[in-house]
Amino acid sequence: LPNHADLQPYNHAVAGHDGTLSDPNGELFIKPCVQQEIKFYEEAFEKHPDFASLMPVYLGTLSLNSATDVESLEEQLPVIADHLSQGLKEEAVRAAKAAVAEAVAEDAAGQGEDVRWKPNKNRKIPTNQSVVLENTTYGFKKPNILDAKLGQRLWADDAPTEKRQRFDAISKVTTNGSHGFRIAGMRVYKGSDKPEELDSDSYRVYKKDYGRLQVNKDNVVGEIRKFIFNARAGIDEDLGQAIAQAFLDDLRRVAEVLSNAETRMYSASLLFTYEGDGEALRAAIVEAASFSESSERRKQDQVGDDKAIVMEEPVGKGTTLDAELVSGHIEGDLRVMEFLGDAVDGEDEDDDELSNLPRIYSLKLIDFAHAEWVPGQGPDENSLLGVRSLIEIFEELAR
Ligand code: ADP
Ligand code: MN
Repeated sequence: LPNHADLQPYNHAVAGHDGTLSDPNGELFIKPCVQQEIKFYEEAFEKHPDFASLMPVYLGTLSLNSATDVESLEEQLPVIADHLSQGLKEEAVRAAKAAVAEAVAEDAAGQGEDVRWKPNKNRKIPTNQSVVLENTTYGFKKPNILDAKLGQRLWADDAPTEKRQRFDAISKVTTNGSHGFRIAGMRVYKGSDKPEELDSDSYRVYKKDYGRLQVNKDNVVGEIRKFIFNARAGIDEDLGQAIAQAFLDDLRRVAEVLSNAETRMYSASLLFTYEGDGEALRAAIVEAASFSESSERRKQDQVGDDKAIVMEEPVGKGTTLDAELVSGHIEGDLRVMEFLGDAVDGEDEDDDELSNLPRIYSLKLIDFAHAEWVPGQGPDENSLLGVRSLIEIFEELAR
């Protein structure tokens, strides 16, 4: 059997239930989940590519118990996205095998008790199913993370009265009520001058009570400012503005996609991640900019002297960062492509190099435990409310 010790607790979650796992490389995020979340991911990746591009890459599901045949796992992980690298596929299968070994070991220890896979006994969701996702923090040196829980209304149609009342009471006294989102959790590298406010990895961690009790409609912009601007870690005004602008571009894209999708999501989140070490962030932007430049030069070489041929636009969304602003070496505006954030598909020769670049930022929609597709019913205005408020806030931060 593979070594079950290979799977390890995922330590960067800023909110949500315990019991999430990652593999040793950290490329995967494995989360026990309800069937509804799996269904939502499956449908997104099968039928709604624009929407799927807002989500972490979905690799498949794992159903784990002592009866699981380790050799069958390659079939159990139907890798839907063709553009995933072979390395990532192999990694997924390897991590899955390790997870099964863990389930078997637990089962043996429990002497034939309930064999459902429970990576953490405290986990409230009774499930043997997990989603296997791209770990959105992979490739960052010091990821700063903010989980913004979307919606004014936080409960789905199937919620019992008690839950509706409890969640409505929370919404009423938090920015869910005033802005349609609240900070469910946040972590900022070197986010305080006081050593006692930092964890052992030098992060200031804001737990769920922060967004419930300390953040309100009057201070919310200032609180998000603490996430984006952090001179202690070398993220000065210029660098912070560049990151705010990058998030702003992505937020606008999220609003556009949601406006054209027919979903209802309750308590889904926008997960903001960016490089929290100022020096690493600057270096990553410079590298991305010079890569972008050389890649354009390659394309120009390909079309020879024919100046009439218009250069191809970069794949997907783009954002413009003023490279001089961040490097002082490279002049002019350079178009920095989607790879600032996301995995890239296609067969371009640049792709390998692209995926090896250090990460700058990422914005992803997550947590679909209470999400469904509702054809014919129009856009999800409840979630859009929060996205639009965030757009306004990031407009302010980017100025
Ligand atoms: P829950 O249903 O327990 O609330 P979520 O899907 O909201 O689960 O995830 C909880 C936390 O885990 C998030 O706040 C985020 O910090 C982290 N997380 C979720 N999905 C990913 C992912 N794909 N990659 C990295 N971290 C993630
Ligand atoms: Mn959540």
